[in-house]
Amino acid sequence: MQVRTRFAPSPTGRLHLGHVLAARVAHSLARREGGNFLLRHEDIDGPRVREEFYHGIEEDLRWLELEWDGEPLRQTARITAYDAALQSLHDRGLVYPCFCTRREIQEEWARMGAAPQGPDAPAYPGTCRKLTAEQAEEKIAAGAAHAWRFHAHMAGELAGPLTFYDLRFGEIPVNPDLLGDVVLARKDIGTAYHLAVVVDDAFQEITHVTRGEDLLPSTHVHRLLQALLGLPAPAYLHHPLMLDEHGQRLAKRNDALSVAALRDLGFTPHELIGRTDQSKWEIETANGH
Ligand code: GLU
Repeated sequence: MQVRTRFAPSPTGRLHLGHVLAARVAHSLARREGGNFLLRHEDIDGPRVREEFYHGIEEDLRWLELEWDGEPLRQTARITAYDAALQSLHDRGLVYPCFCTRREIQEEWARMGAAPQGPDAPAYPGTCRKLTAEQAEEKIAAGAAHAWRFHAHMAGELAGPLTFYDLRFGEIPVNPDLLGDVVLARKDIGTAYHLAVVVDDAFQEITHVTRGEDLLPSTHVHRLLQALLGLPAPAYLHHPLMLDEHGQRLAKRNDALSVAALRDLGFTPHELIGRTDQSKWEIETANGH
C-alpha cells in the first residue's frame, strides 16, 4: 500500500510550532514509507481566512523543508462534493435543519439545568431535532437561516458497531453519541469541518490521517460518516500536542512562536524541527508499524 498523509492547516494565520509538529509527523510518516505527503488548505473558516496566509503557510513549509507533493487542495474549491455528501445523508434522514442561534442554545442549556457534556464542550441540546418535518419546512420556506446537524444517534444505529485504528492507541470502538449532533453544514458556508475533512481525506486517498490528539473525539464522528458515505477508513495517528513552558497548548494567538517570527530571530529550520522533538512517541509508533 502506498502511504499518503496530509497536513491540513486553516489559512487563518501563519504556522506556529504546533503546526510544525503536525506537519512533521505527516511528512515523516509518508517519507519513511516512500509515500506521498499532501497539503490541504482548510479554508472554510469564513472571514478569518486571508489570501496572504495560503502563501505564508506554503512559504513556512518550504523553509522548513517539509515539501509537499502535488498541488495544494483548497476546500473552497470542493463545495459541490460536500453538497453531494450532505444530500446523500439528507436523503436518508440523517441530518436535520437547525435554526438555533448560539444564544438560544445557551438558553436551552440553562433551562435543562445541566448541558449534555461532550468531551471538551457541552453538546447540542437537540432542540431542532424535535421539530416535525412540516415545522422545519415552514421555517425554511419563510427564509429562516439554518445549519444542518448530524442525527448522530440514528446514524450510529444505522451504521452498526464500528471501530477505527490509531497507531498509538490501537483499535478504538466508535461512540456515535460522543460529540452529539454536530453541525455538518454551517449557516454561512453550507459545509463544516467534520463533513469536509471526511470527504477530502477520501478524495485525496489519504491512508494515514495524522493530527493532534485534541481531535480524537472528532474521529468518532468521522468514522461514522465514512461508513454512511461508503468511503474508505484510513488509519489514524493522533499525536501529542506541543505545549509551551507553562504546560499550555500552543495557540495561534501566541505569535511569538510563529515560524516566521522564530525565523526572523535567527533560528534555523533544523532548530525549529528540533523543538518538536520533546516527545518520544514518534519512535515508539515507528517501530510498531
Ligand atoms: N484544519 C485542522 C487544523 O488546522 C486540521 C484538521 C485535521 O487534521 O483533521 O487543526
